[in-house]
Amino acid sequence: MANDTNKFQAIISHCKEYGFIFPSSEIYDGLSAVYDYGQWGSELKKNIKDYWWKSMTQMHENIVGIDAAIFMHPTTWKASGHVDNFSDPMIDNKDSKKRYRVDHLIEGYAEELKAKGDTQNAEAVLAEMDAFLAKDDFEGLKKLIEDHKIKCAISGTSNWTDVRQFNLMFSTEFGSTVSSDGEDNKVYLRPETAQGIFVNFLNVQKTGRMKIPFGIAQIGKAFRNEIVARQFIFRMREFEQMEMQFFIRPGSQKQWYEFWKEERMKWHLSLGIVKEKYRFHDHVKLAHYADAACDIEYDFPIGFKEVEGIHSRTDFDLRNHQEYSKKKMQYFDNDLDENGKPYGNYIPYVIETSIGLDRTVLMILSEAYTEEDLSTEERKDNRVVLKFPPKLAPIKLAILPLVKKDGLPEIAREIMNDCKFSFRCFYEEKDTIGKRYRRMDALGTPFCITIDHQTKEDNTVTIRYRDTMQQERVHINTIKAIVEKLIS
Ligand code: ATP
Repeated sequence: MANDTNKFQAIISHCKEYGFIFPSSEIYDGLSAVYDYGQWGSELKKNIKDYWWKSMTQMHENIVGIDAAIFMHPTTWKASGHVDNFSDPMIDNKDSKKRYRVDHLIEGYAEELKAKGDTQNAEAVLAEMDAFLAKDDFEGLKKLIEDHKIKCAISGTSNWTDVRQFNLMFSTEFGSTVSSDGEDNKVYLRPETAQGIFVNFLNVQKTGRMKIPFGIAQIGKAFRNEIVARQFIFRMREFEQMEMQFFIRPGSQKQWYEFWKEERMKWHLSLGIVKEKYRFHDHVKLAHYADAACDIEYDFPIGFKEVEGIHSRTDFDLRNHQEYSKKKMQYFDNDLDENGKPYGNYIPYVIETSIGLDRTVLMILSEAYTEEDLSTEERKDNRVVLKFPPKLAPIKLAILPLVKKDGLPEIAREIMNDCKFSFRCFYEEKDTIGKRYRRMDALGTPFCITIDHQTKEDNTVTIRYRDTMQQERVHINTIKAIVEKLIS
């Protein structure tokens, strides 16, 4: 079995070889931290999206979904604080010209210390860094880097610039004319989907006659000019988020924050991943909008890392949109409080759950990817199998005639025609059956059926289960029901 770094590399290669994920514009040597989903990756991603969407909207009567545009009025991002605050402290090496996120540079150094067995010093450096970051003390951060003689991996020198803030938003121009300062036409590619929900809060509340507490969910692209982007689809410059903003009464945020922490963890466990692979990580340094925040981290092959953030965003966003737009963002609550008086007008508070779709794809892939040694005394053998939960697998059923003649393909086609409206099927008649099974294992197809000569006599086929590789004979008429039961 591969060790973890090797496992991460193996997953990347597997994704490319089997049509899950390709580097973007690969014929031009790719574009850093941008990826394309291939034929099976896009199916997997869509299944995850559908599963999230259903569990958020269909399963919660008080949550509805929207699909807002990527471009938004530029003032949105002033109101949200992203123009002023959405930045990371960076430092450049003057010799290599390479730019680093300061926290990543220092964390890398701490990892080196740990690898040398100097855990105590590593922890001390990290604690100092956290203290400087919490105070935005850039001079302190630079001094920490200099005192420890932290070097650039490329130039090998410690010749650093000052620490500066670097905004992570991408911008472009809107329309055909550019003003003299270029600012009037400047629009941003949204760095989070949440603001599309905030600016539509009243539209949805009024037209949907929503009563607090209620939620608005959205899945969509977000863009961040990430500086350190070397971790496959974990950190991309263009990615997708699945977010839900839950609007609540001011003062009830603690209770709803706990509710959504628990609810989201249940969703993660429903993916068939054991609870030991997850942990909560509470934020010490809160984002500019939050009064409480935590991440759900998953134990990736590259270590425990964030997949989802749960944030108590107070009324920060709606209040600021009210101030900048001069439009009321209030809700009238005619329920009665404990004194029998209506709660009246207020700007709702918000609990946000924000999960990265691409990181979820990576989590599902990491969990599914398995190398199995199937050697016997007679011969060496192994397989790579993606043990996806059947409901998320890109292909649910492979339909394989044993040979390309004797009327077997015709029967297989009939089964295909019968099943393809209900779930994704894949027909294949090339290669030996053994090779075809292995290929389906590598794509994570949970069920294969083989049509052989006996099928012509008694209308039965062999169904093979991916994880156990066990096979049994079942009647043709039962195939659809068997698969539907197991993928539901
Ligand atoms: P990180 O600390 O890893 O940069 P973040 O805390 O900035 O992430 P949030 O702003 O909370 O992330 O975004 C919510 C979710 O969006 C994250 O939990 C993650 O799953 C996803 N996400 C954020 N940035 C990226 C990215 N560059 N590539 C892929 N997914 C991302």
